Amino acid sequence: MKKISIYFGIILLTGCVSVPTRSYHPAYGTKNTGYFELNDFCKKYRLRYDFNTLDDIVHLISQDTDVKMLIDSHYILYNGRIIPLKKVPYYSKGKIFIPAELAGVVSASNPAASVSSQSLPPGGYRFKPISIRTIVIDPGHGGKDPGAISRRGLKEKYVVIKIARYLKRDLEKMGFRVYITRNSDVYLTLKGRVQYARRHKADLFISVHANSNRSRKIRGVEVYYLSEKYFDSESKAVVMAENAPFRSSSGLFPKNTQRIIWDLMCVENNTISLDFANTVVSTLRSMGFKVRSPKGAPFYVLKYAYVPSILVETGYLSNLHEEKLLRKSYYQKQIAHGVALSVKILNRHYAKLVNMAYKGRQ
Ligand SMILES: [Zn+2]
Repeated sequence: MKKISIYFGIILLTGCVSVPTRSYHPAYGTKNTGYFELNDFCKKYRLRYDFNTLDDIVHLISQDTDVKMLIDSHYILYNGRIIPLKKVPYYSKGKIFIPAELAGVVSASNPAASVSSQSLPPGGYRFKPISIRTIVIDPGHGGKDPGAISRRGLKEKYVVIKIARYLKRDLEKMGFRVYITRNSDVYLTLKGRVQYARRHKADLFISVHANSNRSRKIRGVEVYYLSEKYFDSESKAVVMAENAPFRSSSGLFPKNTQRIIWDLMCVENNTISLDFANTVVSTLRSMGFKVRSPKGAPFYVLKYAYVPSILVETGYLSNLHEEKLLRKSYYQKQIAHGVALSVKILNRHYAKLVNMAYKGRQ
């Protein structure tokens, strides 16, 4: 216990040290514009900060200001209200950089601070249909983590990477920008996977897995979306298996209170994730796949990607019939195509909603 508390003490940096540097991030802005280095920002607006490297949350505090932001996330929690930012805070070479637009938020609430020309970003947080452009595909497991293994020795990590590659190819043909968390047999932490999704500003995150069950009779494709509760005891078993790499590194889990705050942000993502899960299920069913109803479950990769996400279990390696199918490239291609088609269908559906809302205003 003593060791753990010392470790926590070291990673929690507190206070504002005056370092007169300002920098830029090639991906996010031009030199000296659009960003403040965290120390400069705190000094200017008379704030203190905490940065917890475990969960990437920056906490800015003054008498009447309380801002929490997540590295690489467009959403901040400002005095209990969720506010979207155009740019994201980021971490580079031991320093944290804060979008300058945050100055508008802070100075509006803090009369002691100098007035900024930035205006307060629109507040509130409602469901908005998104335009899907960037997709991150996440083939599960890899390297030292084989995932499920069939009786005949087929490893999940090899099956899912093939399906993920077909999915990438199909989505790219449809005009989407696609990134893949691993394109070879390497081990990735769950935290690494979700950070990758945030870094690439994914509009959708698709995790690809293959299932296993003690009962060899159970079969079918399953689609999971993020939920606080387990759909049933069976989905709990699936979550335990897929979250396994995370259990061995429990230090990565954000502290309880911080988790609750960031959970708020999942509300909108949940709506899109559920829409997406339903679309995948109906599309695959129409293609003749045996698909079980979508299920909610608290998967780590879905929760901390902070983007709409689903997890597809592409079949049961423990079922002899499906194990044979999962080996076949035509099956791998078909299921990948079904998921890609679902992205296209959902995107078209959201475009229609936006169009209707636009016409309604005229
Ligand atoms: Zn898996």
